[in-house]
Amino acid sequence: MTDKTARLEKKLSQAIEARKALEEARKQQVDTLSEFAAKLTLGCKGQDVSLDNLLAKYRSALAKGMDFEHLAPLIENTSAQLKQLDSTNSANQRDLVTHIQSAGKQLQKLRGVPENTRRKLRHLLDHELGDIDAIPEFVPLLDKLLQFYLQVFDAKYEIDSEAQQNDPELATELLGLTNELVFEDDVADEVTAIKHSISTDSSIDSLLGNAIAVIRIFAKSIARERQSAQGFLVSLNQTLEELHKSIVDTTSHSKSINKELNALNERIEAKIKRLTENTQKASSISELKGLVDDELAQISKDLVERENIERRDKEALLESFDTINSRINVLENKVNTYKKRLNEQRFKSLLDGLTKLPNRSAFDDRYSQEFHLFEIQGNDVTLVVVDVDHFKSINDKYGHSAGDKTLQVIARALKKSIRKSDFIARYGGEEFVILMPGMPIEAAYAPLEKIRATVKSIPFRFKDKEVRITISLGATQLKEGDSKLTAFDRADEALYEAKNSGRDKLCLRE
Ligand code: GH3
Ligand code: MG
Ligand code: MG
Repeated sequence: MTDKTARLEKKLSQAIEARKALEEARKQQVDTLSEFAAKLTLGCKGQDVSLDNLLAKYRSALAKGMDFEHLAPLIENTSAQLKQLDSTNSANQRDLVTHIQSAGKQLQKLRGVPENTRRKLRHLLDHELGDIDAIPEFVPLLDKLLQFYLQVFDAKYEIDSEAQQNDPELATELLGLTNELVFEDDVADEVTAIKHSISTDSSIDSLLGNAIAVIRIFAKSIARERQSAQGFLVSLNQTLEELHKSIVDTTSHSKSINKELNALNERIEAKIKRLTENTQKASSISELKGLVDDELAQISKDLVERENIERRDKEALLESFDTINSRINVLENKVNTYKKRLNEQRFKSLLDGLTKLPNRSAFDDRYSQEFHLFEIQGNDVTLVVVDVDHFKSINDKYGHSAGDKTLQVIARALKKSIRKSDFIARYGGEEFVILMPGMPIEAAYAPLEKIRATVKSIPFRFKDKEVRITISLGATQLKEGDSKLTAFDRADEALYEAKNSGRDKLCLRE
């Protein structure tokens, strides 16, 4: 072997080595790429079944080390499938945006969305939704929207459950208010039903409905009252107009009569004057006699006419006075009827409809008077608050109308047990107040104890069962430095003490 050949051989083997290394490196690169492509296909998995199938084939071809020639149609197919998927995805994305938008708008329209949620929702719809590029980015957005829905649902549920909640204090107040209002007799049944509903269901929802019902009835009765007042005024006006016309007629009639009389008087005067002149001119008695006879006959005719006119005038005047009189009578009657109605209303509005005892406004008036007297004279005044024990259970066990009857019986018993000079009122619900002027608290103890025992001894019967009903009483005496409120509060505290020490008790507070 020549040197040349040896060099060539060496170069050749070097070239072979280099190519080997190159092929080795290439193979490694292809393997890495294939591996990577296989991983990528796994990443795409789950979007579309036919794509998944194609990709699975592709992966197994890669694993087997299939050459490019065989891979090419697979790749082509997959590319077409991917393109298709891409356009489906875009359409889906557009749909998703529209759906989220409309769900969000729907939410915005709801009442009771908390302000903070409303603000965040607006931001989501106006900004965040527009910045989305790919489907996965929707996930946090949808999550947010879901949170908003939950918040609104919670808020709404709270409102609803608030409306379901009971508010016994509000119920008591509404019942008291309804008791104070004066209703016409024809709505008595309706009002009783409302009162029953108020005392059996104190949920805000139901109270609201009942309050509206009471207002509706009251508004109707005000409208009716106004209508009757208007009717009264219209008829008053009519009668006044008739009266006015009668007076004008009478006056104008008198005027025309006067004119007639004046003319007649003038005629008579002229005749007398003529008679005087002629008598002076007469030359013989017979002439004079003839003149006088003639003129006197004329004058006496005139005088008879005058008398007639005057009589007619008197008659007409009397007649028109009669008319005027009877019209004035009608007017007086109308005014009296209306006055009576107004008085009845005022009287009614100071009486409690159920027990016919003075109501709370009557008590307020009377308490103010007594308190004023006490401030001036410093006399002894005892104030008592009475509350029926466990009254709610009477309603619950035997019905509302049994409860009503019980209240009537107790009210009658209380009224009978006090002195004439004492004042009792139904303060509201099953509470009564008694004012005892001229009664020091020590002296009030015995009569109040007696009242307590009297009520306890009433034999109530419900559903054929004898039931004992008791009352608790709290009493105090007005004292220097008191206001109406502090004195009342003291009596109320005494009542509270009576309730807390077992009910069916009388407690005094100095
Ligand atoms: P306590 O011994 O603590 O006073 O218990 P109570 O049940 O008497 O007191 P509460 O204040 O809980 O209930 C008073 C009840 O009186 C509730 C209400 O339904 C009822 N009530 C109030 N006014 C009337 C009414 O005009 N007629 C009837 N039937 N019930 C009424
Ligand atoms: Mg009470
Ligand atoms: Mg009570």
